[in-house]
Amino acid sequence: MKTEFEFIETIRRRYSLSKIGDDCAVLPKDNQTDLVITTDLLVEDVDFRFKWATPEFLGHKSLAVSLSDVAAMGAKPVWAMLSIGIPASVWKTDFLEKFYEGWFALAKKFNVELVGGDVSKMPDKIVIDSIVAGEVTKGKAVLRSGSKAGDLIFVTGELGGASAGLKMLENGERYEKSDYKNLLLRQLQPNPQTVIGQIIGAGNLATAMIDLSDGLSSDLAHLCRGSNVGAKIYADKIPFDKQLNSITKSFAEKLDYVLNGGEDFELLFTANPKKKIQIENELKNSRFSCIGKITATGKLVEIISDDKIEVLESKGFRHF
Ligand SMILES: [Mg+2]
Repeated sequence: MKTEFEFIETIRRRYSLSKIGDDCAVLPKDNQTDLVITTDLLVEDVDFRFKWATPEFLGHKSLAVSLSDVAAMGAKPVWAMLSIGIPASVWKTDFLEKFYEGWFALAKKFNVELVGGDVSKMPDKIVIDSIVAGEVTKGKAVLRSGSKAGDLIFVTGELGGASAGLKMLENGERYEKSDYKNLLLRQLQPNPQTVIGQIIGAGNLATAMIDLSDGLSSDLAHLCRGSNVGAKIYADKIPFDKQLNSITKSFAEKLDYVLNGGEDFELLFTANPKKKIQIENELKNSRFSCIGKITATGKLVEIISDDKIEVLESKGFRHF
């Protein structure tokens, strides 16, 4: 069976669509500015579960996932549209009111204006479509296609928390009663790297960038495919979320959360080694780590742990 990525690639080729395949589409706005725009579909029981995500968390996350894509272009988010399909039984509750509270709390933080949307009835599940558009200096959107052999690979923040949080929720842990609230929040209420994305974009710091939504193994492979390069990463350089210690002591298990679990919504970017000092200066108030480098090994991604080199398979999140 085709993966969703293969499906998108087929449509892209069949209809000669040149603007598809990055975190956002880049469209011309005027002589100084480009527009970036992204859409995300969140489906109940596929992307979230009603029994563990409160309406406020869901509102926050619906916007956060799209803000993360805008951040990955080095752009500033400005406008949003939000459409939602809900069952009649949910319509009768205060779900929507609370959902919008969560959405607007995050929108306010980054000055994002809601400019449209739609509400419709669904037979029995909730479906949310989130669109965010933003602006970037003309020609400066950071694409997936600019990496060159020899570039350094960086990630922001700490990784693995969101998928470990998901695992806990699947095992019955609930936020209200949990001793692991912060870990669960990595999954339930992710923070998009909106500020760091804009610093990277404005400073011309990166040759390519993507947000970590599917898991490091998959997202690094997407970036390598976009740039037609390979990569080598070092397991001991990966910044594990410290909270992973509370659920496992095993290095292999922690590595699995980072590589193959998704939704950390941190940024993965590559940069010319000459920019290293500038990156250290401009991102001095943020956590970021250099985890490896881009190679000329034709889209092959390798991971080095304990002096062993292995080919890294993409096993991150896939819908199909
Ligand atoms: Mg993305």
